[in-house]
Amino acid sequence: MKRALFPGSFDPITLGHYDIIQRALDLFDEIVVAIGVNNEKNSMFTAEKRKEFIEKAFEKEPKVRVTTYSGLTVDYCKEIDAQFILRGLRNPADFEFEKAIAHTNRKLSGIETVFLLTASRTSFISSSIVRDVIRNGGDYTVLVPDSVRIE
Ligand code: ADP
Repeated sequence: MKRALFPGSFDPITLGHYDIIQRALDLFDEIVVAIGVNNEKNSMFTAEKRKEFIEKAFEKEPKVRVTTYSGLTVDYCKEIDAQFILRGLRNPADFEFEKAIAHTNRKLSGIETVFLLTASRTSFISSSIVRDVIRNGGDYTVLVPDSVRIE
């Protein structure tokens, strides 16, 4: 069973994350989308709400599971028996940052990180921009899956 962990804050999930997960479904038997809750102080949505948004977006996809975790990502990979970490790359800044983390994770655990380049149509989207749009009353719905709606 090829299992990949897709770790992140997902505050909230965006069309960029959605695209990465959809495309990775062809590569793995199961994708565990794992919401990291180490640094909760500045989040806009609770971990429960973030989980709900992702679960609803993939409710028809049995290969996607959503969890929360704290602590080291590689420790959580071992706990759930994930052999791969999945990450998206938007730009050179992402690459530089992710490179150091991926090397560290492999040094610590031997776990490989698999990178997918973002689709050009979603490469400009980030959760922090989505939060800004929400805070200022803009139309965030064009940046996120339909499951992300604020009452
Ligand atoms: P983190 O707090 O770990 O950066 P995010 O929720 O922002 O968590 O991102 C999780 C993963 O999704 C990262 O690999 C990030 O590069 C990727 N990602 C973020 N935005 C996009 C996007 N627009 N397109 C594709 N991948 C993205």
